[in-house]
Amino acid sequence: MKQRLRCSKDFDSDTPDTYYTRPMSPPWSKPLDIDRLSEAEADVDFAVPLAELPRLAQLAGLAGEVRGRAHFRRQAGMAVAELNFSGTARLVCQRCLGTMEVGVDATTEVGLVTTEADVSRVPEELEPMLAPEGRISVGELVEEELLLTLPIVPLHEEAAACHVAPAAAASAAEAPPETQKPFAQLAELLKRQ
Ligand SMILES: [Zn+2]
Repeated sequence: MKQRLRCSKDFDSDTPDTYYTRPMSPPWSKPLDIDRLSEAEADVDFAVPLAELPRLAQLAGLAGEVRGRAHFRRQAGMAVAELNFSGTARLVCQRCLGTMEVGVDATTEVGLVTTEADVSRVPEELEPMLAPEGRISVGELVEEELLLTLPIVPLHEEAAACHVAPAAAASAAEAPPETQKPFAQLAELLKRQ
């Protein structure tokens, strides 16, 4: 009887550790208790690999990582997460299918509510976000912000970086100066005569 008691006690105290360190669920994917964190004004540091965020999977070939901190606090009884993160997102240019890098630098304040009906109660300066059953993961917070900021159709901004049909681009870039020069010189000659 004594042994059984000790066993169950050990098991109970071990359970959380086993859960938190399990490689199958990285810390950023864990649903966090927003009431507990906001009461404690807790800081949560994180690193999130973008390719593993399910709702960003629509961006084909997405890679990269963001790192940052979520600071939780209370505001008029509402759980608020101050989110700061930065990093680099690697996307696939939809014009040339080449890799492009987009710098990410996000600062936002999120008002966390548990039901759709409460969304209207979130003050304007906060970004409303649903935390069903009072829980949300860092991954979900980051994902929501990136859905708003990353381009849905990523395209290289500078033509030089965009490698559309490399052969055609190369001849278009080199040929014109060669062929235009003789005509320019001819025009000069005609003017002088
Ligand atoms: Zn491109």
